[in-house]
Amino acid sequence: MSTPVVFIISAPSGSGKSTLTTELLRRVPNLRFSVSYTTRAPRGEERDGEHYHFIARDEFERRAAAGEFLEYAEVFGHYYGTHMNEMERAGRDGYDLVLDIDVQGARQLKEKIPAAVSIFVLAPSRRILEERLRARSQDSGPVIERRLKDAAEEIRNYSRYDYVLVNREVAASVDTLVSIVKAVRSRRERMESEIHPILETFRNG
Ligand code: 5GP
Repeated sequence: MSTPVVFIISAPSGSGKSTLTTELLRRVPNLRFSVSYTTRAPRGEERDGEHYHFIARDEFERRAAAGEFLEYAEVFGHYYGTHMNEMERAGRDGYDLVLDIDVQGARQLKEKIPAAVSIFVLAPSRRILEERLRARSQDSGPVIERRLKDAAEEIRNYSRYDYVLVNREVAASVDTLVSIVKAVRSRRERMESEIHPILETFRNG
């Protein structure tokens, strides 16, 4: 049982966070996406247990009251939360975890797990964020306006994060994310179990 490294990735909607996260998970071994609980309805291709665990509001409230969530928040009128079991399972299986959570959740998690590594993803400008939101044509005009307003609010929280990634181009951004994960995994305290057998080979030499 090891302690998983928790990587928190937050970004305003339209910043390209889910593409980056998917690519990161594809590139790095032993890294797992933390599947959150939510009270919002599934969209398009989303499947229960894979993108989210979709549950009713009363069930969420019951689980929250029972202290099952490491963090939870209300975002756009729906609850979202990270279940404790995600950490336990990752530790048992020897995986690190990637959490795609909002700024409120990131704050709660950093308080509980100070060693968590947080990354804030930014679009290069408001204009580019707006273009991306319109291009994915998932939302109506007023919804896009609302998302841009929310983005302006969320962006103010960047200074709470350990890393900031300006997402100009997907491939370069994924490289940066991979580098962050590799650097954190190379920290001396994470390397102890690997170092000792190496030192053993030098013992009587
Ligand atoms: P969406 O509904 O677009 O999938 O997600 C909306 C927002 O909720 C995103 O900013 C996402 O990062 C956030 N979110 C997703 N899961 C969690 C969670 O478990 N906890 C918190 N605090 N936010 C979450």
